Amino acid sequence: MTSTEYSTRDFDKVMAKINCPYCKKELAYKAIKDLPYFPFCSNRCKLLDLGAWIDEKYRIEEPISPEMLSEMGKEGEEEENG
Ligand SMILES: [Zn+2]
Repeated sequence: MTSTEYSTRDFDKVMAKINCPYCKKELAYKAIKDLPYFPFCSNRCKLLDLGAWIDEKYRIEEPISPEMLSEMGKEGEEEENG
């Protein structure tokens, strides 16, 4: 066992993490002002995302994929209740 005197609690408390909505890059910040392009990682992503909105390409309606369906109807019950 190693004694961890390092207390990251205070650090954790002030740090927040988000993911850039466009490129999904993880961003850590202490205050919103740390991210000039909040919630984006960069001006590029902000502009690209904005462009997507304008283009109405952002309206992604996630269709239910066969994978999701099979996940829901998964059979994994091996109980003997009778
Ligand atoms: Zn980004």
